[in-house]
Amino acid sequence: MGKILADRTSKVDASGIRKVFALAEKLKDPVNFSIGQPDFDVPEALKDEAIKAIKSGLNKYSQTAGDEVLKTKIAQQTKAEFGWDEPAVLVTCGVSGGLFLAFMALINPGDEVIISDPYFVIYKHVVNLLGGKCVFVDSYPDFALPVDKINESITSKTKMIVLNSPCNPTGAVYSQSQIKDLARIAAEKDVLVLSDEIYERFCYDEKFASVANYYQKVLVLRGFGKSYAMTGWRLGYVAAHKSMQYIIEEMAKLQQYTFVCAPTPFQKAAIAALDCNITDFIDIYRLKRDILYNGLAGKFELNKPSGAFYAFVKAPARTASEFVERAINNNVLVITGKVFSEKDTHFRISYATSDEKIKRGIEILCSLC
Ligand code: PMP
Repeated sequence: MGKILADRTSKVDASGIRKVFALAEKLKDPVNFSIGQPDFDVPEALKDEAIKAIKSGLNKYSQTAGDEVLKTKIAQQTKAEFGWDEPAVLVTCGVSGGLFLAFMALINPGDEVIISDPYFVIYKHVVNLLGGKCVFVDSYPDFALPVDKINESITSKTKMIVLNSPCNPTGAVYSQSQIKDLARIAAEKDVLVLSDEIYERFCYDEKFASVANYYQKVLVLRGFGKSYAMTGWRLGYVAAHKSMQYIIEEMAKLQQYTFVCAPTPFQKAAIAALDCNITDFIDIYRLKRDILYNGLAGKFELNKPSGAFYAFVKAPARTASEFVERAINNNVLVITGKVFSEKDTHFRISYATSDEKIKRGIEILCSLC
């Protein structure tokens, strides 16, 4: 018998984040700075909505593109925010589901995808899986959006620019002027922008700016998992201007043969989630950001993160991997930067944990300098 596994399996690596997450199960009371999910619980009212949906028998498939009421509400909010009439909407299984469908619908072998480095892990692996080519644009050392370098990287093969603000792993939030500049160069060269806005609510210093406010050739991907602490409910959506409806339709077609639909009872809860105020949680996370930044700034080289719940810290060692190994041996789980980057100089901290754990983690990391 010939080789069993398909060649494409060799194009992806198991997630470096998941490896450390699995390690956390085995350690006794570690400081777990490894995984990107909020430490608060799903708001009670949203749990009640999901339970109500399950008890009332809404346990079957929904329409492929999503529950009609949920889609309508997302469309209304999209219109209010971006001024788009009748936007196209697809409810997805998490933002990961939306990313996968978007790349599946758009990437041909050889197509170039511009991604600023450091980047969220999924982009690179799915683009590679599909035979696309990632064109990484360095955003070190301040992790601001490298608009000029992105502009220089656009070629006739460019299929899209991937944007992620607030950014995982850096915690950077791109300013309104950077976003406007990006929109201008994308418009000049007529390039599609995929805007991963999963952390849009987690902005601590300035207001979130979306490229969709300045440009229409955009796929906006948002999620419910991080905002309402329901990462296991697997819910997200893609919204686009109606001129991009044909892309959303192709993505929905692919959803029919892959995810089929997002989980039905949780879609019902998502309708209520869209009205749920999480300002209190964001205030708590701003304080966590401050504790972390103030605790590390004297000893480590790092930019003050202004969004999401990550800090990307320069490792005081030859390589970040070397330092991360030391940290893990001392019961602090962090992720080495090469998981998110073509460089191995930094490490990622997710500070979505208790204040007590953050303080303990700071103490241990500082002792390793
Ligand atoms: N995009 C970014 C930037 C993320 O950090 C994550 C989750 N870590 C995702 C997408 C995927 O989110 P979901 O759980 O909704 O699939």
